Amino acid sequence: MKLTFDILRRANKLRDPEFRNGQEPVSLTFRGNELAGETGEACNFIKKLERARLGMKGSTATPQDLAKELADIVVCVDLIAMDLKIDLGKTIKDKFNETSRKYGLSIEIDQ
Ligand SMILES: [Mg+2]
Repeated sequence: MKLTFDILRRANKLRDPEFRNGQEPVSLTFRGNELAGETGEACNFIKKLERARLGMKGSTATPQDLAKELADIVVCVDLIAMDLKIDLGKTIKDKFNETSRKYGLSIEIDQ
């Protein structure tokens, strides 16, 4: 089964209450900090991959390490969109196409 935005949203809706462990829904501030945390984790792996590419000493990471953090970011973005009742798939498609038109680029996502 291919993952779609709808499938991710359904899973987030079901898992969020379980994650909250009986607590009230979290604030947008919490969600934003959650996203920033995951973005920081991804940036740290990007730094480690770049460090290795440059031949520097220090701890390293794998592209798979980064992939997992990128996945966390997408999950966090969908949680924010879920709380604000944003249709993420439609919004991404519209924004992608808007940017293509703005810069005269030929690629648009089919409507
Ligand atoms: Mg993470």
